[in-house]
Amino acid sequence: MKYVDEFRDGQRARQLAGAIAEEVEEERSYHFMEFCGGHTHAIFRYGVPDLLPENVHMVHGPGCPVCVLPMGRVDAAIDLARRPEVILCTYGDLLRVPGSRKSSLLQARAAGADVRMIYSAADSLQIARDNPDREVVFFAIGFETTTPPTAVVLKQAHAEGIENFSVACNHVLTPAAITHILESPEVRELGTLPLDGFIGPSHVSTVIGSAPYEFFAEEYEKPVVIGGFEPLDVLQAIRMLVRQVNAGRAEVENEFTRAVTRAGNRKAQALVADVFELRKQFEWRGLGTVPYSGLRIKEAYAAFDAERRFAVEVGRPRENQACLCPSVLRGVAKPTDCTLYGTTCTPDNPIGSCMVSSEGACAAYYAYGRTREPAVAPVDA
Ligand code: SF4
Repeated sequence: MKYVDEFRDGQRARQLAGAIAEEVEEERSYHFMEFCGGHTHAIFRYGVPDLLPENVHMVHGPGCPVCVLPMGRVDAAIDLARRPEVILCTYGDLLRVPGSRKSSLLQARAAGADVRMIYSAADSLQIARDNPDREVVFFAIGFETTTPPTAVVLKQAHAEGIENFSVACNHVLTPAAITHILESPEVRELGTLPLDGFIGPSHVSTVIGSAPYEFFAEEYEKPVVIGGFEPLDVLQAIRMLVRQVNAGRAEVENEFTRAVTRAGNRKAQALVADVFELRKQFEWRGLGTVPYSGLRIKEAYAAFDAERRFAVEVGRPRENQACLCPSVLRGVAKPTDCTLYGTTCTPDNPIGSCMVSSEGACAAYYAYGRTREPAVAPVDA
């Protein structure tokens, strides 16, 4: 298949769903986590759960970069934006995420802060070139997909000797988060989060390749199938996972061969390695402190590191106790378990990050009218 329409063909989707229904074993239940928020949205947009047998359960993972940013870092972005000399640039979804002080970047902008929404990292560097008398800070978030463009602008700023540009780096790493989930008490001890395999993210995997997932297959005996974002991709990935579970296999398979290789994009990896290094630990909303899961700017580019330049303080504020985002991000609660879902918390009035972001699970449920998903996926139903 060559064209995107072919990957959305309803007839083929029904055939694939029929094949899955034939292959699942009745006495077994299957729990697959889609790590990536892009998959969560694809799954609901195309009604995938309605095509699956009742004993195949999808568990939503933490793969939404806006959702996993802890409140302390949202507060730090707001503090930076409020400095009169600063123009703070970031991606659109982050603007509406509430911080701990009943504020957001959008509200800070309404109160006079110079906050600008950008579509690419390159936009922020251009804003710095256009405003040499201001401090332009790019508040960078995202997984491995958005990290290489941040590396590019840092190298460009360095090469051009731009002095009024810096980056607040909040880039995080997918394999570290998957390890953390597999090591969590819910998976290892309590059995409240049954996981039989993962749909591996597609965009991230175009950069890192499929090799980093081999560890999960070997050490944790969890199959991983890297899948694209179209409905036939997702259904085919689920079918491949069902086959692995039935056969007692735990391997890394690649459904998204049209874009992902085992080695990934070596040029992008080299760029990132040149500019960034691992942080010993990084705080994630929902997952807590995850070792070696975030990146920081290397010493050679320290002049462009907003954290050093502005001595940014990242606090640990208390979450709104009624908001279940942390549990939703760990896969142990569904958005519909939250008492605020669809009442107090809506996309127009988001209480938590999972309702704000275009990749958030709560936003996906709301956008596609999911109001009656079962609570937490049952164990061996
Ligand atoms: S519905 Fe709103 S408050 Fe509840 S978990 Fe989702 S984002 Fe948080």
